Amino acid sequence: MHPLKQYWVAEALEQDLGDPCNPDSLMSFQQVVELDEQEEFPTDLLNWLYNWKLNHYYIPTACGGEFTSFEEFVAFVRVMSRRDLTTAISFTTLFWSYLVWMAGTDEQKQRLASFIKDHNGAMCLAYSERAHGSDLVASDVQATKVAGGYLLNGEKWPINRATISGVTFVLAKTDESGGARSLSLFMVEKSQLDPNTYYNLPKILTHGIRGSDMSGIGFQDCFVPESSRIGAEGAGLEWALKGFQITRALCAAFSQGAADTALRTTLNFALGRKLYGKTVFDMPQPRRTLVDAFLDILICDCATIGAARGFHVIPEQFSVWSAVVKYFVTTTLESMVTNVSVVLGARYYMRDAHDWGIFQKVVRDNAIISVFDGSTVVNLHALLLQLRQLAKQRSRQKGRNLEALQARLAACFSLDQSVPTFDGRKLELFSRGADDVLQGLALALTQLQSLETDPDLDSDVLQQIGGFTHLLLEELSALDQSLENSTFEFGHDQSPELFDLAKHYCTLHAAASCVHMWLHNRHHLGAFFAKGEWLALCLRRLALSFRPAHSLASRINDEAIAQELLQLHMEDKLFSIVPFQLATSKVQGDQTNATSELQLQA
Ligand SMILES: Cc1cc2nc3c(=O)[nH]c(=O)nc-3n(C[C@H](O)[C@H](O)[C@H](O)COP(=O)(O)OP(=O)(O)OC[C@H]3O[C@@H](n4cnc5c(N)ncnc54)[C@H](O)[C@@H]3O)c2cc1C
Repeated sequence: MHPLKQYWVAEALEQDLGDPCNPDSLMSFQQVVELDEQEEFPTDLLNWLYNWKLNHYYIPTACGGEFTSFEEFVAFVRVMSRRDLTTAISFTTLFWSYLVWMAGTDEQKQRLASFIKDHNGAMCLAYSERAHGSDLVASDVQATKVAGGYLLNGEKWPINRATISGVTFVLAKTDESGGARSLSLFMVEKSQLDPNTYYNLPKILTHGIRGSDMSGIGFQDCFVPESSRIGAEGAGLEWALKGFQITRALCAAFSQGAADTALRTTLNFALGRKLYGKTVFDMPQPRRTLVDAFLDILICDCATIGAARGFHVIPEQFSVWSAVVKYFVTTTLESMVTNVSVVLGARYYMRDAHDWGIFQKVVRDNAIISVFDGSTVVNLHALLLQLRQLAKQRSRQKGRNLEALQARLAACFSLDQSVPTFDGRKLELFSRGADDVLQGLALALTQLQSLETDPDLDSDVLQQIGGFTHLLLEELSALDQSLENSTFEFGHDQSPELFDLAKHYCTLHAAASCVHMWLHNRHHLGAFFAKGEWLALCLRRLALSFRPAHSLASRINDEAIAQELLQLHMEDKLFSIVPFQLATSKVQGDQTNATSELQLQA
């Protein structure tokens, strides 16, 4: 078992699901591709997960479940997602229950926990409307107050699991005058409704996650009792936005599962395919592409795992952290999948010529992660509204309260420390200018300087890590200055230049997460992690987005990264800073599924 307990659930689920390359295992690539071709909802796979009691891990222990940490959660969602995003996304709509764990009454929590555990209940989130998309305040769905409850009217679309679920979380207008307090949130239990007062819209044919229940729901004078309202009347938007802080950051787990499969199946190909007397992996260009893809996964890992733990430590900063992770991780891993598709060559475009066609399914399925739950622009917009205050606060706090900052960073990034219980009531709509990851960058640089005498570290590698961290500080300071000087107004008509600044902020935040992750885990994540070559290369890779290559220190030799990649592939371990054990692959049916053993023996 993995030395870190928070990875045990993921490892156990992996073992019980078995090798996805074995057609006889559960959720095998062959099976999920067949279901996808038939656009069939994965009912049996979902039932298997309920029987395994994975649903219990979506309910906090205080509400009678097994959920203890978002780090554990991210790990097991990766396990599902590396096999099939359709199943993972369908199952994980259970996580909308967090609205109730955060804002619900004790009675609502009990009802929902029993629905999930005793009745294999599923739920959906009904916020979007055909006419209004991201503009939630413009909602047309009305909840009109009547004796004992409300009458719902209107349609929500497109909604994942709108038809095949028993609970629908509906955002509806309770105050016609409009504005931020005009919406309320309802936990609508279909079993309590008069079936003549609601209907489902037809399945929507989608580009990816084809087997999903993508549909919609409509209400016609549909009575819902007062007890179904979550939180106070008028507080719907606030809870909706706080709920998004949780789910948006956790979307990264879907992308990371998908990215693992994209890289693993491309490696299967690159190690087995021979051209010009050698394997594709042996050619410098494809090898570099695969190494860079691995680096992208490691960068995203640091951002995602840091954030998953950060929820427990500094939830009040998540209006920033969550937007960063949702934008940065999903778009970076989308690009990574596109990059490795080049190595797969023609097979990338074929639906069944390699590993049962799982790659092209990953390409299609993964593309939705950056769109739903708040698209790329919506997250960047949420972030850019806070940039100016972040810059001001960073300058005010410079050099102050360093001990407390250091303790919070250690709690967020030291994977060997247990995290406090998550308290969703501490989430805030704005972080009031706080972002410990970037506030702590100067501290990290001081820590790096103190490592100069460490005999276990290669001085060239350490110098690069220090140099790039210094560069990050320079960039941050320039960014802050331009923000402080900007004439900035709130609203939706923000300039494309501000969106670019928000993207830049996300890159700096992700890079700083990598530095903190290394500093806080050098002694317990293994030799590859400790040596830090991966970090030097990751920081250089990120710096390329804001500096030309020729102005940067030259790339250190990446052979250690290539060897680690091969080793993890051969040992069936996750491509991650926490490479936990995956189900072992015994069946490698055809030549295109060759193992990395070939490469290591060569
Ligand atoms: C597969 C799938 C599953 C989904 N599941 C659900 C679900 O379960 N529940 C649910 O409620 N919804 C769901 N949605 C809806 C999804 O969240 C919406 O797509 C989202 O609300 C955006 O709406 P829209 O695409 O219509 O774009 P719009 O919001 O109409 O945007 C149109 C254009 O304006 C731009 N834009 C929007 N806001 C800004 C801004 N602030 N600044 C600059 N540009 C902006 C957009 O980028 C886009 O270019 C799902 C969608 C899909 C495709």
